[in-house]
Amino acid sequence: MVRCTMSTVNGCALTSLIPTAQSSSSLKRRPIVVCQALSNSPPSLIQNKPVFAAPAPIIHPILTEDMGKEYEEAIAGLQKLLSEKEELGPVAAAKIDQIKAELATADKTTVSSTVEQLKNGFVHFKREKYEKNPALYGELAKGQSPTYMVFACSDSRVCPSHVLNLHPGEAFMVRNIANMVPAYDKVRYSGVGSAIEYAVLHLKVKEIIVIGHSACGGIKGLMSLSDDGSTSTDFIEDWVKIGLPAKAKVKAELGDAPFADQCGLCEKEAVNVSLGNLLSYPFVREGLVKKTLALKGGYYDFAKGSFELWGLEFALSPSLSVKDVATILHWKLY
Ligand SMILES: [Zn+2]
Repeated sequence: MVRCTMSTVNGCALTSLIPTAQSSSSLKRRPIVVCQALSNSPPSLIQNKPVFAAPAPIIHPILTEDMGKEYEEAIAGLQKLLSEKEELGPVAAAKIDQIKAELATADKTTVSSTVEQLKNGFVHFKREKYEKNPALYGELAKGQSPTYMVFACSDSRVCPSHVLNLHPGEAFMVRNIANMVPAYDKVRYSGVGSAIEYAVLHLKVKEIIVIGHSACGGIKGLMSLSDDGSTSTDFIEDWVKIGLPAKAKVKAELGDAPFADQCGLCEKEAVNVSLGNLLSYPFVREGLVKKTLALKGGYYDFAKGSFELWGLEFALSPSLSVKDVATILHWKLY
C-alpha cells in the first residue's frame, strides 16, 4: 500500500510515495522525491502538467533494489554475528528467518509491480500511439470536439474506449456505479449534471449513449435492496436507487424468474430509466427538439462478447413537459 504525501521544503514541492505497511520503516528514509521548479511554484499535484513529464526518478522503481539491498546487508550482518558468537545462534537464526519472511511478503513487490506496470503502460502508449499519431495528438492539444458523451459503469471490464474502439477525443465520458444518469438535481447530483451540461452546451456532442453491461454488481445491488428501504452502505445503495423504476418494472414482468434473469433484464431497463432521466435536463430536451442531439442505449455482454445498441424515437414538440415526453418513448433495437 502506498499513500501519496506532499510537502514543501525550501520552496521545493515534494511528492513522496511512502509505503504504509509494516516494511515502511526502511523505506521512509528513502522516499521517492520529485522536486518541481524552485520558487513560487504550486504543489505539483495541482499543476497543469502531465505526471510523466516529471523527472524520471519519480517513476523509476528504485524501491525494490534499495529494500533488497538493505535486507541483504541485515542478513549478512546477522550471519557474521552468528559465526562470531555461537551462543547467539538460535536468536540470530530466528531473526534471519523473520527478515527473509518480511522480504518475501513485503509490499515492495506490489509497489514495484504497479509502478512498473504504469510506467510500461505509458511508455507503450507514448511510443506506439502518441508518437505515431502526431496529427491527432497535435489537434487534441488545441482542444476537444467529441462526437459522443458516454455513460458507462465503473466496472473494470467494460471500458468503452476498448469495447467500442473509441479513440482519444471521440468520447466525453462519465463512469459510475451501474452507469446511471440521475434526474436533474442541482444539489444531489451536480457532478453528473455539470458533465452533461458541459458536454451538451460547450462540447456540443451529437449523441449521448448510456451503456449497461452483463453481471453488473451495481444492478445486482439494486435488485437486492430491501423492500423496507433500509441501507447498510454509505453511498452505494442510495446511488443505485436511481434505478428503482427499472427494478419495479422487472419485478412486475419477471417477478417469478430466477434472480439472475431479473438482474439481466434490469441491466437493460436501468439504461432506459437513465435515458428517461436525461430528458429532465433542459439542455438535453432542447438538443432533442432541435435535432442536434440524439440519445442511445447500449448493452455490452462480456460473457457472450455481444453488444446491443438501441435508439430513442420520439415525437416531441417544445410545449410537451418531461412527463409527457416520458410517456411517448419507443425503444427500437437496431
Ligand atoms: Zn456495472
